[in-house]
Amino acid sequence: PCPITVVGAGLAGCEAAWQAANCGAQVTLVEMKPARFSPAHHSLDFAELVCSNSLRAEGLTNAVGLLKEEMRRLDSLILACADATRVPAGGALAVDRAGFSRMVTEKLEAHPCITVERRELSDIPAGPCVVATGPLTDGAMAEAVVRACGGEAPLHFYDAAAPIVTAESLDFDKVYFAARYGKGGADYINCPMTKEEYDAFYDALLTAEPAEVHGFEKSDPHVFEGCMPVEVMAARGRDTLRFGPLKPVGLPDPRTGREPYAVVQLRHDDAAGGLYNLVGFQTHLRFPEQKRVFSMIPGLERAEFVRYGVMHRNTFLNAPGLLDRFYRLKSDPRVFFAGQMTGVEGYLESAASGLDAGLNCARQTMGLPLADFTEKTAIGALAHYISGADGKQFQPMNVNFGIIAPLEKRVKAKRARYEAVSARALETLDTIRAAW
Ligand code: FAD
Repeated sequence: PCPITVVGAGLAGCEAAWQAANCGAQVTLVEMKPARFSPAHHSLDFAELVCSNSLRAEGLTNAVGLLKEEMRRLDSLILACADATRVPAGGALAVDRAGFSRMVTEKLEAHPCITVERRELSDIPAGPCVVATGPLTDGAMAEAVVRACGGEAPLHFYDAAAPIVTAESLDFDKVYFAARYGKGGADYINCPMTKEEYDAFYDALLTAEPAEVHGFEKSDPHVFEGCMPVEVMAARGRDTLRFGPLKPVGLPDPRTGREPYAVVQLRHDDAAGGLYNLVGFQTHLRFPEQKRVFSMIPGLERAEFVRYGVMHRNTFLNAPGLLDRFYRLKSDPRVFFAGQMTGVEGYLESAASGLDAGLNCARQTMGLPLADFTEKTAIGALAHYISGADGKQFQPMNVNFGIIAPLEKRVKAKRARYEAVSARALETLDTIRAAW
């Protein structure tokens, strides 16, 4: 079979290369780092987590938990490395970001069917390929993608990253370890706020100076709800944060036995436990303003910020109409797209689309029937969503039970329904795999 080129060693490209190579295809994985870094990438390693270090919830009563289990059964590289480098995070799968990326890189470099090339591509490769250059694709490659899509301009929206602080710089007389409702023991550091502290913080946040917004971003009406900057969320109302990321419910302060007025949660960012990110604090404030305002959070008065939050434009294709259910370009089926640029949203969803695209690109070059995971599985539902949604109002999508095909018979209780959808999904997946 023809060799396959995968462009971009991010979450999607790494998984695509792994899956294609495991099918027996010869794969060249091309990554532009270190010759060039996007504004959000800093590490030399592959599969870089540019913001949060969480791959979100586990468990089969949750669509992102189901997607994880499906990917484990499909021998996902991203899941295997995430499981091997996990850090405590209650019911979520969070990873040591550096250890995770290192492991993904080593596994790909060691694979006998994969050749890694470190260079920037300025065009879509001529042969069978998976293009996974991510939400910050720009320059000549962005122009090449637009050309390949018949001149249709990609859509774009905003995305934002949260700051990271060192644990040793926190005031442990004020903060306390706990997970919500005690689930997961002491995985989070909690910063309790009184009403007076919350009000002062809120007023400072609302009047803080944002970073410069580029001309092309000003006219963009899309603000993605799943990763909304904390100051944008705050502007929706004085109590919005207290019902969102600063919710105190289930987090009593052990010193008083009572739930505080508001709580800022900090989550492990590395396995050693030296770094913590501010949960839900994606932001577009200027760096000195972040230091000033976030240092008002009790316990963070002298916090050392090892990384400030950032906000970037995020580019994605208007996939419905352009791509089919296998992430193939309808007008040129040798070209597969994968990752955030196809309109799936999130690390795990990007990896899942890479799995689907890499596997099917290899199967296509080998003359095998393509694997359609169907709308009954979470991984298949994502592919069906991006290719079948309403193209006029297309917005990126996290995996959720709403895009998975409904059950044949009605189950009223939500938990039981989700469990039944998950059970059917895993059975469907196993049947599809057994037929390969
Ligand atoms: P990426 O992981 O970005 O990978 C693309 C790769 O392609 C990069 O390594 C890049 O260097 C390389 N590349 C680009 N162009 C070329 C070229 N021309 N030639 C060769 N190589 C090239 N999702 C979450 O689930 N949680 C979050 O907290 C989160 N935060 C985000 C914060 C920001 C600032 C952004 C931009 C996105 C965030 N996302 C988050 C969304 C999304 O899940 C991630 O962007 C994810 O990394 C997308 O995976 P990907 O493989 O599509 O792209």
